[in-house]
Amino acid sequence: MTEALHVGRPNIGNRKRLMMRLNDILDSRWLSNGGVFVQRLEETVAELVGVRHCIAVCNGTVGLQVALKAAGVTGQVIVPAWTHIATAHALTWIGLEPVFADVNEQHVLGKRGIQYAISSCTGAILGVHLWGRPCSIEALEHKARCHDMGFPLIFDAAHAFGCSHRGQMIGGFGDAEVFSFHATKFVNGFEGGAICTNDDALAERARAMINFGYRDGEVRHVGTNAKMSEVSAAMVLTSIESMGEFVAVNHRNYAEYRKQLPGVTFVEYDESEQQNYQYVVIEIPDRDRVMEALHAEKVMARRYFWPGIHRMAPYRWPAATLPETERLAACTLALPTGTAIGVSEITRVCDIIKRVMEESTMHSMPAWAAS
Ligand SMILES: *Cc1c(COP(=O)(O)O)cnc(C)c1O
Repeated sequence: MTEALHVGRPNIGNRKRLMMRLNDILDSRWLSNGGVFVQRLEETVAELVGVRHCIAVCNGTVGLQVALKAAGVTGQVIVPAWTHIATAHALTWIGLEPVFADVNEQHVLGKRGIQYAISSCTGAILGVHLWGRPCSIEALEHKARCHDMGFPLIFDAAHAFGCSHRGQMIGGFGDAEVFSFHATKFVNGFEGGAICTNDDALAERARAMINFGYRDGEVRHVGTNAKMSEVSAAMVLTSIESMGEFVAVNHRNYAEYRKQLPGVTFVEYDESEQQNYQYVVIEIPDRDRVMEALHAEKVMARRYFWPGIHRMAPYRWPAATLPETERLAACTLALPTGTAIGVSEITRVCDIIKRVMEESTMHSMPAWAAS
């Protein structure tokens, strides 16, 4: 029997060290509320990313909401239509209005997408570093700074932990960046997230907001409960210790896929920057036939983020204004990778893809050429 291969099987890290930490947590009887593991995690991430503040939170979605609130965002927020639904939901759930912008050929928000979406009602931009690749950060910064009075720029960096842009780690750009440590992400804490910022006042507000609005023992803000538990912090710390190994495996997998599928278009990574290579994403004609063939043989490739947020029930938006999102929604496929996948599994996946591609070429040829 062949084993099912999934996209997003968790990276586990050093189990023994995690268990030791869990024992420490139980022994201390300090399970949440800014215990030693959350504190150590915040210091570790702040240092790794090179930011003044890291605030650990219960997940990336709520982290985005807290960051937006702490930055004082109101009204309309420009967001790409090509991303995880969490990015748009984070806005709508707190009464902000998403304005969907088209992405560029690189799957991310660029200058052109912003230009079409920006107006006098724009209250912020929420960029997404999809697949760990930075959006056009400088162009977005320029827009946010120079538009009328200027407005906040926040980044959804859920895919981009351990990645850099122009030699600087992602996490320190814009007014704040938010990571996700969900189980399926590169570094995970079962559930979890982190807000990173260099803005002292924003950080102070965010820190109060995640703990019911308490500041210096008094309630100063309307707040929520977005704290990370000690168990999650212990898992993230353990995961971070194995980052080098995760990257090495992901990179090997990515290179192996490329070697075995030379005619296929891959989402590429800039090898001169730090990358986590957590996603192996291809753009392939006949995507749905390829996916069905893979699923039939228990390879659970995913057509992330089909059909695009603009086509999802709560967010109808004219497709005509989002041509690149439309194109990507029709041809993008994420392949299984991570520490649960090795070279023999990759060969199994690639053989299926090559078979379907050959069949497709035969079908598209005129009858006289195929005989
Ligand atoms: C996973 C993800 C989120 C949500 O993070 P959670 O920690 O699962 O809440 C947000 N944005 C993107 C792009 C994601 O992939």
